[in-house]
Amino acid sequence: MPFLLLKLIRAIRPRVRYRRAMAIFAFDVDHTLEISDGPVPLSALAALREQGHVVGLCGNWGFVVQRVTDWHRLVSFLGPIACTKVDQLTELKKHVPADDYVMVGNDPAVFGNSPDREAAAEAGWRFLREAEFAAGMR
Ligand SMILES: [Mg+2]
Repeated sequence: MPFLLLKLIRAIRPRVRYRRAMAIFAFDVDHTLEISDGPVPLSALAALREQGHVVGLCGNWGFVVQRVTDWHRLVSFLGPIACTKVDQLTELKKHVPADDYVMVGNDPAVFGNSPDREAAAEAGWRFLREAEFAAGMR
């Protein structure tokens, strides 16, 4: 193929930018995060951020902001604030585009107090129990 034709094809070819899949992870706090009697270390949240995911809290967020100095570098959203967990998750999914929506929290039938499995199901989020996440499931 003549050189000039190749050059022209390269010039008009659409630029395709590949991006990694981005997920939003919402974490319950009590009985989920290590700082509140759960198995998930804060370093696991930082690792998700480094991988390009969005990380936030859907639980006892006041506990976290009062104890973690740099909480604002760790999470992108706090909640629920004056609403239910279902409301928070529903609103996030409605407005924030992502490839996957994951709630990490408790199933009181197994461990913990918060009905996060139900909230995730109602809001259309994928649910991971705190122990599953801590064991490496994503
Ligand atoms: Mg909980």
